Amino acid sequence: MAVQTVESANAATPAAGSVDLGPAAALSCRECGHRVPLGPVFACEECFGPLEIAYDFAGLDAAELRRRIESGPASIWRYAPLLPVPADVAGKPNLNPGWTPLVRADRLAAELGVTGGLFVKDDSGNPTHSFKDRVVAQALEAARAFGFTTLSCSSTGNLAGAVGAAAARAGLRSCVFIPHDLEQGKVVMAAVYGGDLVGIEGTYDDVNRFCSELIGDPAGESWGFVNVNLRPYYAEGSKTLAYEICEQLGWRVPDQIVVPIASGSQLTKIDKGLRELISLGLVEDRPYKIFGAQAEGCSPVAAAFKAGHDVVRPQKPDTIAKSLAIGNPADGPYVLDIARRTGGAVEDVTDAQIVDAIRLLARTEGVFAETAGGVTVGVTRKLVESGVLDPALTTVVLNTGDGLKTLDAVADTGLTTTIRPSLESFHAAGLG
Ligand SMILES: *Cc1c(COP(=O)(O)O)cnc(C)c1O
Repeated sequence: MAVQTVESANAATPAAGSVDLGPAAALSCRECGHRVPLGPVFACEECFGPLEIAYDFAGLDAAELRRRIESGPASIWRYAPLLPVPADVAGKPNLNPGWTPLVRADRLAAELGVTGGLFVKDDSGNPTHSFKDRVVAQALEAARAFGFTTLSCSSTGNLAGAVGAAAARAGLRSCVFIPHDLEQGKVVMAAVYGGDLVGIEGTYDDVNRFCSELIGDPAGESWGFVNVNLRPYYAEGSKTLAYEICEQLGWRVPDQIVVPIASGSQLTKIDKGLRELISLGLVEDRPYKIFGAQAEGCSPVAAAFKAGHDVVRPQKPDTIAKSLAIGNPADGPYVLDIARRTGGAVEDVTDAQIVDAIRLLARTEGVFAETAGGVTVGVTRKLVESGVLDPALTTVVLNTGDGLKTLDAVADTGLTTTIRPSLESFHAAGLG
């Protein structure tokens, strides 16, 4: 995040009066702890560190909370008491993502040699077919609370579609920015919702830098950029993945979780979500390991992890896993902390291994993942083979997007054969 833009970006006008964002009490700096009132700001005025939501969970009784969650809607809103949203959120027009399947992956486990229980948290079934609907749903509530009428973002593809769809459902304008060379599936998906979709000649990191500048310009200062000035709210949406995984395992924390890394936000918030469940007494306090997964062609966090560095050196991405192609990941250093603190690791796989893993997951479990899912499954395989991931422990692998969005990755897949509509032709082909 460019420091020179922090003050201008923070100057965006919040709505007058107080905002109702449920249990969210304030924004707190992750670096220095400085607290400021809830508003559309993302960087600490004292030290430029990232702001995140501080909650007032006082008075939440674990048994009562658990009952409330279990009787809630089959969407992320069952966790509304733990999110920065008003209590009546489920009644407003919203895509209501989440509560996606936790697939018990026994056949994949057998192929990988995992014996302790392997699960795929399959987020491809969200309304716009990626995990991004979770984070956008939170940002939308913040945008409403602050009175923004245009939703925007910089996107590696999936976020563009999620923002376009959420804005359409909510009756807001959207104007989103993407690198000009994304997969057709993502461009079409983002455009069909009718908002403005702007290709930028550059990488995602160029797009993101441009958005930080736009926020300081009069044209953009009244816009809600879901992953810039609304980032503290947006980021909280990823906690719901941790909540759902634990609830779907019978209110139990898995031993190992394999998470894809783009900016690293999702991984840090999954950790935050697990720690919240533990401190609220909703799950037993037991150790867990978080593993980060990147593509070799964009592996700044994995490189830093392997080299034992605390800082992440930016890279220029070149990989088929475009949804993860962030060369300068904002949350990279926090990901390193979490991987090291929990005893996990950060690993990367080649594009060829990503494609193999997409096919492996599809063939064994009937789950067609986008390239990001190929990254997590491929990294899981690599970590089991190298003995870093313990095959005897319960392991959850995230699939964060739908394979239909990245068809090119497996474009050489096709017909087994073509026959004439006759039994003779069928038998000649050796099919039965
Ligand atoms: C955005 C995205 C992620 C993770 O993003 P973070 O920036 O690390 O939170 C993972 N998978 C897919 C498919 C995505 O689109």
